[in-house]
Amino acid sequence: MEQPAQPVLRDIVLIGGGHSHVGVLKRFAMNPTPGVRLTLICRDTHTPYSGMLPGYVAGHYAYDDVHIDLSRLAEFAGARFYRDEAVGLDRRAGKVLCRNRPPVPYDQLSINIGSSPQISQVSGAAEHAVPVKPITGFNDHWTRLLARMSDHQGPLNVAIVGGGAGGVELLLAMQYRLQNELRSRQRDTSGLGFHIFNAASQILPTHNDTVRSHFARVLAQRGVQVNNNSRVERVSDHTLHLADGTEHPMDEILWVTQAGGAKWLEDTGLELDASGCIKVNNQLQSLTDPAIFAAGDIATMVDQPREKAGVFAVRQGPPLAENLRRAVKGQPLKPYRAQKNWLALISTGNRFAIASRGNIGFAGAWVWRWKNWIDQRFMDKFNDLPPMTDDKAGSVPSEVNLNQEEAAQAISAVAMRCGGCGAKVGSTVLS
Ligand SMILES: Cc1cc2nc3c(=O)[nH]c(=O)nc-3n(C[C@H](O)[C@H](O)[C@H](O)COP(=O)(O)OP(=O)(O)OC[C@H]3O[C@@H](n4cnc5c(N)ncnc54)[C@H](O)[C@@H]3O)c2cc1C
Repeated sequence: MEQPAQPVLRDIVLIGGGHSHVGVLKRFAMNPTPGVRLTLICRDTHTPYSGMLPGYVAGHYAYDDVHIDLSRLAEFAGARFYRDEAVGLDRRAGKVLCRNRPPVPYDQLSINIGSSPQISQVSGAAEHAVPVKPITGFNDHWTRLLARMSDHQGPLNVAIVGGGAGGVELLLAMQYRLQNELRSRQRDTSGLGFHIFNAASQILPTHNDTVRSHFARVLAQRGVQVNNNSRVERVSDHTLHLADGTEHPMDEILWVTQAGGAKWLEDTGLELDASGCIKVNNQLQSLTDPAIFAAGDIATMVDQPREKAGVFAVRQGPPLAENLRRAVKGQPLKPYRAQKNWLALISTGNRFAIASRGNIGFAGAWVWRWKNWIDQRFMDKFNDLPPMTDDKAGSVPSEVNLNQEEAAQAISAVAMRCGGCGAKVGSTVLS
């Protein structure tokens, strides 16, 4: 879609191409707000859909099946796409500081940058373990490991540190794939060992007993060694050192522990929670700065605490889009109500999945097919983009309320046709 022929009166800047922002882009594409320009800043051009990531690792999906092409989606939404990393904010000037490009001005800002395991809290982990996020880093490591399997000889022990659903699901997917890689080369799989190191007394602590017992059975059948009450205190070269004094040599160590916020947020002055995530109100607006919104893992809803999960990031997309739109128009924001119970469909690598919702848990191959259907439908929304020829935003008047000075500038901008190139016209240019 082309840039609207409207002058740009308000800038909405989105940092991160997470699950919420892809929803925002889609909504603005289908229903643009005249006078508003969107800019997406993301360090990756392709963003992974977390629900399908284990299926990609297991070998059921190709890279493109589980990634959304952000540059294409941004183009579809008439948004600018800057492939860059946000490294700070100048809130007084209303600018995003980027690693490689000049600061990007905003009127409203939204942050959806996800979270990553707090690997630096354990000595040696950053040097000797691979965090599951950023996914691009994990994926690079994973593809190298797969390549090494072609001539790997002898035993290979893989450890996951963390006993949450994400870690368990990832380990089972890796096991399925690595065993298949060896079998396809007529090689023995008995040298492959898989281990979970979990500081808590049970795996999947946020799920119900039925789900936990389904997983306990699957893990036992698949020969995965589960070490509960096993806090990793230190990591050295290929070795986990536990709090109980034991040492466990491992070939691969993956870190999937509780996630936290990016370091650069600490210098923004925004109020953060104990794990470094941005505290937001029910309108998904920062408690500190009304011009800044946050969604997904990086946001902590202070009045509705919820688990960090992709499902919430996805659900927050529509209310976030609505509130960004309302904020630029100067309209009152709408509260978002987060669901209390949510459905998690957790796969076990071998086209089998376990469903978890509140106190309910059930499992089967059909659950995997159901999950696959839901996930594919989600991806279709972002990959099957209809042709957009009608420039809706350019053909209707601006919906942005301007003060007198801004209105005068806008009229000048129209006269000069400055907005046609998509450039925001600053007061210094016009005066
Ligand atoms: C193995 C695994 C499986 C999972 N499976 C599920 C599941 O089935 N269902 C579920 O609900 N949850 C699942 N989760 C949890 C889920 O991954 C997260 O909750 C979800 O990804 C959070 O989405 P998000 O939109 O907040 O951020 P993300 O999806 O992490 O996206 C963040 C984006 O921001 C970009 N970015 C980051 N920092 C910057 C920066 N400084 N500047 C610019 N761009 C930046 C990144 O490149 C990325 O595009 C799983 C997690 C793991 C580890």
